[in-house]
Amino acid sequence: MGMLVATALAGRMLSTLRQPLGSLWGSLATLLCWLRAALWWSAAEKGQQQLGGEPEGTREEEEEDGTIPTSVNYHFTRQCNYKCGFCFHTAKTSFVLPLEEAKRGLFLLKEAGMEKINFSGGEPFLQDRGEYLGKLVKFCKAELGLPSVSVVSNGSLIRERWFRDYGEYLDILAVSCDSFDEQVNVLIGRGQGKRNHVENLQKLNKWCKEYKVAFKINSVINRFNVEEDMREHIKVLNPVRWKVFQCLLIEGENCGKDALREAERFLISEEEFEGFLERHREVSCLVPECNQKMKDSYLILDEYMRFLNCRQGSKDPSRSILDVGVEQAIRFSGFNEKMFLRRGGKYVWSKADMKLDW
Ligand code: SF4
Repeated sequence: MGMLVATALAGRMLSTLRQPLGSLWGSLATLLCWLRAALWWSAAEKGQQQLGGEPEGTREEEEEDGTIPTSVNYHFTRQCNYKCGFCFHTAKTSFVLPLEEAKRGLFLLKEAGMEKINFSGGEPFLQDRGEYLGKLVKFCKAELGLPSVSVVSNGSLIRERWFRDYGEYLDILAVSCDSFDEQVNVLIGRGQGKRNHVENLQKLNKWCKEYKVAFKINSVINRFNVEEDMREHIKVLNPVRWKVFQCLLIEGENCGKDALREAERFLISEEEFEGFLERHREVSCLVPECNQKMKDSYLILDEYMRFLNCRQGSKDPSRSILDVGVEQAIRFSGFNEKMFLRRGGKYVWSKADMKLDW
């Protein structure tokens, strides 16, 4: 009898404890599963890295999540008709995305918060005689409704017909001009043979006015133009902005192994750059950009729509936004939003807001 009572009591106790023990065991099992999964992922990642399977660009430290691609520079071609000795986006490939793929990428960027697109190269007017560029410009303004669409060009291939067809969709045309002395342009690699770069600049300025496009000038200050006085020429042309860059070295582009240029002989010191700025201080539209300001303050997309990370002094590509999306790719862009704002990257960039006297 005593035995029966003891057995019954033990049975009751067990059944009372079964429920809490059961749920405790359940939690432990879940925890073990989670730990096992975490260890498996870590081993798998390590294995992938050892096999070289890590995606391009991940060797860089990751940016904080949530970077918005407010202003993007899309270098859709590396091909160019000039051979500037300091060029830092050289003709390493001849690849250009099919138009519809480029549009898809631009749409993704717009969805991610892009407000300004700048098309650059290489020479953007080279592809399909400017038609490819024109179609992208029109798409960005008329279909995506971007506040600002701009182009940087060496200006040598632009025809009036392009302005007639696409001028209304373009906010800013920036033309590169490093010297008003044709001999210096030849030395730099921007010589136009019989044609004169300065006359061409005046013609483009006139078309910009006629077709209501804001006209901008970009100059790279280097060993051959650092002593030049450009004040009068710039005042006559009267651009909305005159962006003045200090010549910059980029590993793999214009210096080092595999580079197509050797730009060392073009370099100038900070002091020399300051001297040039001082001489042109009275030019109100001048926007200076020393190497320090340029560093990591641009979002650059290459011809495959990969962000180029310049943090180590070369251009390391992320994966393409067409494959992994903008959010994933932008983590490896090396972009520093604070530097972007510090260099005045955000300005009145829509021609509708510029109040220009056309
Ligand atoms: S015009 Fe521009 S893209 Fe062409 S070679 Fe000169 S710097 Fe490079």
